[in-house]
Amino acid sequence: MSEARLPLSLDWEDWFHLCCPPFDNADALDHFEDRLERATELALQLCSDIGAKGTWFCLADQAKRHPALLRRIVSNGHRLGLHGLTHQRAFAQDRASFRQSLVEGKALIEDLSGARVLGFRAPEWSLRNNASEYWQELPGLGFTFDSSRAPLKVLGDPSWPRRPFRLASDLWELPPPVLGLGPLTVPLWGWSMRVLPKFLLTAELDALQAEDSGTPLVLHPWELDEDQPLLPKASWGHRFAHRAGLRGYGSRLRKLWSGLNLVPLESWIEAQEIAEAAESALVLREAHS
Ligand SMILES: [Zn+2]
Repeated sequence: MSEARLPLSLDWEDWFHLCCPPFDNADALDHFEDRLERATELALQLCSDIGAKGTWFCLADQAKRHPALLRRIVSNGHRLGLHGLTHQRAFAQDRASFRQSLVEGKALIEDLSGARVLGFRAPEWSLRNNASEYWQELPGLGFTFDSSRAPLKVLGDPSWPRRPFRLASDLWELPPPVLGLGPLTVPLWGWSMRVLPKFLLTAELDALQAEDSGTPLVLHPWELDEDQPLLPKASWGHRFAHRAGLRGYGSRLRKLWSGLNLVPLESWIEAQEIAEAAESALVLREAHS
């Protein structure tokens, strides 16, 4: 029996990175306060305090602005994935442009950090709609896993698998965890992790780890930055999802996550593949005995 663990993912973007204008305009980085360093330090400290390591899905345009910060994440023992060349949704791009953004984004993050990038998460879980097959570009470009398909309405499709599986022989999919609340299914990250009763969340998190579910927890470092400005011109829904429960979230997470064994997505996949290889070897031995 392997050690129980839960994958941890962090989407490395700034406080204003919504997927709608003016936040995803090409010049958005020039118009909003840069608070990424502060948020990154808060997230690194949280991980250090609870002994967690994670996979940071990084925006390549932010990596260009903060190469030293990117290397600091790596030197703290975390892994890096790609969150996009910019924070533009995948389905807002044609397939050729999307492929090119993967090539450029992966190369940029690897060159700036010296670390290998094996995983991808699309901004706002956007491998959906006309981009639902775009994941097929990933294996040929050196990616071994994706974590962009949320089994939820609006952000994805409730009929998609809730547990990790192979989208192709050489590509894992690790969907984020969701929580049933009566007739509703909600994301088990972001606003719900910030506002739902702790007993409910603790029970669910413990069960996910005990099951070795492989569903990655999700944190945006900006969620720890309590003093961030209000989002100008954002919809009510965006404001709620972005700001509800921000006050005190760092100490809430220290309590909710401190008993968990949080590891990078790569580590969870490696453990699965080792277990599968051992099982195959056992079956072969039994067949020959
Ligand atoms: Zn994002």
